[in-house]
Amino acid sequence: MENKQEIRLADLADQVISAVDRMKETYGDFAAHPSQQADLSRVRSVLEDLTTRLEDNFPYFHPHYAGQMLKPPHPVAMAAYIATMMINPNNHSIDGGRATTMLEREVVKDLARMFGYPDTHLGHLTWSGTTANLEALWVSREINPDLAIAHSEDSHYTHTRMAEVLNIPAISIATDEFGRMRLDELAEKLATGKIGTVVATLGTTGLGAVDPLADIITLARQYGARVHVDTAYGGFFTLIADDLDEETARHYRAIAQSDSVVVDPHKHGLQPYGCGAVLFNDVSIGRFYKHDSPYTYFASEDLHFGEIQLECSRAGASAAALWATLKIFPLTKDGLGSVLQGGRNAAVQWHKLLSESEVLVPLQAPELDIVTYLPRASKFSSVDAISQAIFEKSAQAPRDQQIHLATYVMKPQGFVRRGFELEQDRDTARILRSVLMKPEQENWIPDLHTHVETLAKQLIKERK
Ligand SMILES: *Cc1c(COP(=O)(O)O)cnc(C)c1O
Repeated sequence: MENKQEIRLADLADQVISAVDRMKETYGDFAAHPSQQADLSRVRSVLEDLTTRLEDNFPYFHPHYAGQMLKPPHPVAMAAYIATMMINPNNHSIDGGRATTMLEREVVKDLARMFGYPDTHLGHLTWSGTTANLEALWVSREINPDLAIAHSEDSHYTHTRMAEVLNIPAISIATDEFGRMRLDELAEKLATGKIGTVVATLGTTGLGAVDPLADIITLARQYGARVHVDTAYGGFFTLIADDLDEETARHYRAIAQSDSVVVDPHKHGLQPYGCGAVLFNDVSIGRFYKHDSPYTYFASEDLHFGEIQLECSRAGASAAALWATLKIFPLTKDGLGSVLQGGRNAAVQWHKLLSESEVLVPLQAPELDIVTYLPRASKFSSVDAISQAIFEKSAQAPRDQQIHLATYVMKPQGFVRRGFELEQDRDTARILRSVLMKPEQENWIPDLHTHVETLAKQLIKERK
C-alpha cells in the first residue's frame, strides 16, 4: 500500500546531491582549479541577492495565479533534473549522454503510445515546442517542397514565423464560434492544390480550442496533404479525453492517424522549461536527417538522438526529469491524467459561475482548462477598459490577497461569431483569460470568482 504525501524539493535534494557526489568520488578525488574557486561568503551573498531579485515575479506557483501558462515543475522533476545536471550529459550523442539517451528512448516510447503512434515511430525531446514544430514543418517541406502549410487563424504564431524561416507559404484558415478551424474554409483552400500540410491545433494557446482533427485528416487525405498536430499545450489531455466533450474526444483519438505531433512536457507535463517533443508516425522520414543512411539505420538500437534532430546540444537532464516524473505520474488517466483533471474541473466550475453572473459573462465554454470572460457591457470601449482595470486591480493587493489574471485581445468578428451585440467604438477589445493549469485550483474557484466578480461590480458601477 502506497502512502501518499505532499512532496517537497527540500525532502529530495540531499538524497540526489549526495548520491551523485558519492558516485563522483569513486573516480578518485581531485581539487577544483584555483580559477574556479571562490569566497564562500561572497557566493552566499550573491545568491542572497539573486533570491531577493527573484521576488520580482508573479506567484506562478500559487492557485491565485490564474493568468498565463505558467507553473513550476513537480519536485520529482526538479530533483531528477538537479541530479542529472550535476553530471550534465548531452543527449546529442550516446557518448555524451549514455544513461539519459536510454531514458529518453523510454519516455519517447511512452509519449508515442499515449498518442497511439506505432512502435515504429520516430521522435525525440526538444528544447521547446517552437523547435519541435519547426522540425515537423521542415520534414513536411522536404516531402512537399513547393506547397504551403495551412493553419487556423487561432493557431500559435510560431507556424507563420517558421513558414518564413522555411521559405514556404502559410495560409490562414478562419475559425468558427468556438475558435476551431472551419472545415468548409479548409476544404476550399485544399481544393486549390496549393496546400502540402495542414496544421491542426488541439488546445489553442489562447482559448484551448480543439480543431476538428478527425475531419481534417479525412479532408487532407483526399488532397494528398500531410497533417501535423500541434498539441504543445493540449497534448496531455489525451489522457482524459474520454471525460471531455464527445466530439473533442473523437479528435484526440484521431492523433493516432496524424503524420506528426508536438507536445510540450514543460507545459502540462510537470517539467521545467527546456522540454518539448516531436514525434513522427512514419520512421522513414528519418532519411531527411541523414541522406546517405538507409532507413533501417534509424530503427537500429544504436541511434544517437543527434542523428534525428535539428538541434545539437540538448540537456540529458530534461529526459531524466521527465522519466522520473512519469514513473510517479504515468501517462494514464489516474496518473498524470488526474493532474490535468483538476484544472479541467476548475474550468468547468468557473464557467458555470460566470454563466450565472450578473456582471460577468463567459466568451465561450472551455474545451480544456482555459476560461475566457468579460464584463457585461454594451460597448467595445467599456469591455476593454473594465477588463483591463480588473486585470490591474486584482493584482494590486497585499500578497496573500492578490489575484493574477491575463488579458486576451478580441477582434470584432470574434464577438459577432459568438452572438455578442456590442457597439464597436474601438478596433479591438481586451477581455479576461485564465489558464487553470494547477490542479489545486479546483478548490479555489469560488474564491477566484468572488474576487473578480466583486471588482467587476465596482468598476461597472463607477462607469455608470
Ligand atoms: C506554447 C505553444 C507553442 C510554442 O511552444 P514553446 O514551448 O513555447 O516554444 C506552440 N504551439 C502551441 C499550441 C503552444 O501552446
